[in-house]
Amino acid sequence: MPNKRMQNDHPKTVLIIDDEESIRDVLVNFFEELGYDILTARDGRGGIAEFKRNPTDLVITDIVMPRVEGIGTIREIRKQSKSVKIIAMTGFVGSYLQEAVTLGADDSIGKPFTSEELIEVLERVTIS
Ligand SMILES: [Mg+2]
Repeated sequence: MPNKRMQNDHPKTVLIIDDEESIRDVLVNFFEELGYDILTARDGRGGIAEFKRNPTDLVITDIVMPRVEGIGTIREIRKQSKSVKIIAMTGFVGSYLQEAVTLGADDSIGKPFTSEELIEVLERVTIS
């Protein structure tokens, strides 16, 4: 029977969706260091298409993007999979992040964030 450590060593996959290349780059580096297999998309439409082709264990998506913004993206990806963990992120204050969670995100993070803050959110969604 695999112990917890072996389970943690299992390959994990993440889909990163953000229209800003610099954010995608930061997140790619972050998840690479954690040993994830990584897919990226630059807008919601591309993210939804990518998830349909290659469902990942985790999706981290921006909210404000062209061509299907994050709220619609979260709703569609949640329709595709009940088990995928979804983290919403935005630099906009207000109701976006709460709305994201209501519509199917597991957790949310405000931009800008530190890697420590992202690790906290990641632990909350992956340990639950
Ligand atoms: Mg954006």
